[in-house]
Amino acid sequence: MNARKQPLGCFDASSALVPVSEALSRILGVVTPVGDLETVALSDGLDRATAQDVTSPIDVPPHTNSAMDGYAVDGVALPREASRAYRLVGTALAGAPFAGSVGDGETARVMTGAVMPSGTDTVVPQENAELDGGTVVIGGGHTPGDNVRNAGEDIAAHSVIVPAGTRLGPAELGVIASIGLGTVTVRRRPRVAVFSTGDELRAPGQALDAGAIYDSNREVIKAMLRRLGAHVDDMGVIRDRREDVLHALSASRDTADAVMTSGGVSTGTADYVTDALRALGEVDVWRIAIRPGRPFAFGRLGRSLFFGLPGNPVAVMVTFHQLVAPALRRLMGETDLSPAPVLQARAVSRFRKKPGRTEVYRAILEREPSGQSVVRSTGSQGSGLLHSMSVANCFVILSDEAETIEPGMLVDVQPFVGIG
Ligand code: AMP
Ligand code: MG
Repeated sequence: MNARKQPLGCFDASSALVPVSEALSRILGVVTPVGDLETVALSDGLDRATAQDVTSPIDVPPHTNSAMDGYAVDGVALPREASRAYRLVGTALAGAPFAGSVGDGETARVMTGAVMPSGTDTVVPQENAELDGGTVVIGGGHTPGDNVRNAGEDIAAHSVIVPAGTRLGPAELGVIASIGLGTVTVRRRPRVAVFSTGDELRAPGQALDAGAIYDSNREVIKAMLRRLGAHVDDMGVIRDRREDVLHALSASRDTADAVMTSGGVSTGTADYVTDALRALGEVDVWRIAIRPGRPFAFGRLGRSLFFGLPGNPVAVMVTFHQLVAPALRRLMGETDLSPAPVLQARAVSRFRKKPGRTEVYRAILEREPSGQSVVRSTGSQGSGLLHSMSVANCFVILSDEAETIEPGMLVDVQPFVGIG
């Protein structure tokens, strides 16, 4: 799909609402992963996407080893009911194998992680054995092969352990370390230039003159981008003048992988952003069928993607989560773009719903003493009430088709895991 050839139509009062799913598929149809690859130390790999399959050169564990502290024996010679005395012939520690071999009627002491001595395949835990001088007495009830971790049981040599396009989390980084690799090949972090727009905006720390407000969107957007793993260029505030918008955006359009603004994309008289965008690149402004959220602009400025978020702070977070995050994840090279998990909880407040649009409520998910998960609204849902985002711990998401939810009904909840 090509956004240049298939514009969704410009925003005007009569244009149709664009469903969230359609907006997302239009966006994802345009975004391709950054092409530059980097090989980085594992400690720099967190939250980046692998650019190649990671294949294990070795078995993990590399050797069959003991899962317990105990005595290693040959399983076929274990006593069935009565006990049997074994001669203790040596010790194997993790990292210090027993050099000899264990013969019939013999045992070796093994500690957790020790390579299984030659001639043994079973470990009897030390609490089930009695050591008496150089003799170990073992009773019945043990099964051959017990308490042993086989070579390759976690990872088999030559298998793909982390496919290309995987976001690296702590587990993936550990798994790559476990196969002995100290580096990983990932895609370059995308550079995202972030602007706020509006004459009314002041930086925290400045005096607040009549009619002014503090710029909160830029902090929110920068933090969400960093959490995704992007490289952020803070470009400050663009005043509501067409020349300022043109000047600011034209400077970024060839250096950043994505340019992101908030505010200025509605039809208000001071919204020069929309107008300047059309002069600079190919950008559509959509009325997205989501509350809070619309309007939203997307397209290209030179070689950069462009995301024009709404001005209202909660709408910024909601549209970022619904539309920007999946696009950024694709840009970073992730292949599985599934959203954060949605679960169901019982509503204890009413969630009013109008048909034909997605409504996203800020809510609080709690577990009752009975174990039941319940969810209640944070209260007033104005799209400027940013504090309610910090009080909330989840979104209640009512899809386009959903109807008003009355207390007692089940509702879809998306906990803030890497969202809020
Ligand atoms: P706009 O789309 O520019 O008309 O903005 C819609 C609302 O969001 C207005 O009340 C703006 O003052 C507010 N707003 C826009 N940008 C920001 C920002 N960076 N931080 C906080 N509020 C903003
Ligand atoms: Mg504005």
